Amino acid sequence: MTDESGGNRNSYDKNHFPQQADVLNIVLDHITQGMVVVGPDYRTLAFNRHFEEMFQLPPGTVEVGADFRDILRTWAATTGQDQQMLDYAIYQLDEPATFEFEFPQLINGDPRWCLLTHNPLPGKGFVRTFTDITKRKALEASLMKLSREDPLTGLYNRRTILDLLEEEIQRGQRYKHPLSFLMMDIDHFKKINDQWGHPTGDEVLKSFAAQCRSVMRENDKMGRFGGEEFVMLLPETGKTDAVLVAERIRKITAEMAVKPKRSSTPIPVTVSIGATTAGEGDDVEYVIARADEAMYEAKDAGRNRVICH
Ligand code: GH3
Ligand code: MG
Ligand code: MG
Repeated sequence: MTDESGGNRNSYDKNHFPQQADVLNIVLDHITQGMVVVGPDYRTLAFNRHFEEMFQLPPGTVEVGADFRDILRTWAATTGQDQQMLDYAIYQLDEPATFEFEFPQLINGDPRWCLLTHNPLPGKGFVRTFTDITKRKALEASLMKLSREDPLTGLYNRRTILDLLEEEIQRGQRYKHPLSFLMMDIDHFKKINDQWGHPTGDEVLKSFAAQCRSVMRENDKMGRFGGEEFVMLLPETGKTDAVLVAERIRKITAEMAVKPKRSSTPIPVTVSIGATTAGEGDDVEYVIARADEAMYEAKDAGRNRVICH
């Protein structure tokens, strides 16, 4: 096996013993991270092949002795970083403490994530390593999605919607903006399951979620609170508009046409909705309790209706 320095890795010739610098270059080029060593006055002292590859640097950009700030300027231009990012990158060169920083960049047109580790050298200068963390970031994103979403409908799950409600209540109170909340429960859902089977029940839940999404505005948030119970947060929305939204949902639900496999007639589906608006000093529990109360009143009054408290 012949390596890049022309030597033989498995045996060595005593007369041609490689210099330590050659060995170090081989090591540098064979580690999986990008690496650069920069001395005082931003002069580049050493770098490896991965560093050039990860930063999409044209041949000749990185040379021993090159000003590392010029390398950063070329990097910004070739990987589509904006001026703010470039200014920040240059500013960070003087950081006297070790730090890590994750950033996105295009590599060969592919969006990737990179982890920079900065280790200052005694005196001045630093050693930096760059690790491609794209896989880890994708995994983190999918775990985050799993922990926040209800798998059947893709809506926020109960825990997430509770957190969002808390945030929105605080924001609404801070800026004195109205916030409305809808509690929605499918009517006689048990009968749908009993008559058509659980999978058809699931289709009804998915279809309901999709219909609601179609009437939501950008800042509205919807979650599945439990089985066939859903909630919606309507920021910047007072009572009158909240009732209008709830009425729209009630109407499109009744018009929803989920057909079970065994029948060409759509399943009749209706929903009961309790609406409320968060007032001064209200907390999450109180808002939910009031919407719940309104929803149960809608059930008692015959279902397929909206009640506002
Ligand atoms: P009401 O009008 O009073 O709300 O009556 P209901 O039948 O809708 O209410 P109930 O709470 O008695 O029944 C809810 C049913 O929802 C019972 C449960 O088996 C069913 N359910 C809960 N989660 C799911 C789910 O993920 N899929 C399906 N298909 N059914 C579910
Ligand atoms: Mg129900
Ligand atoms: Mg219920």
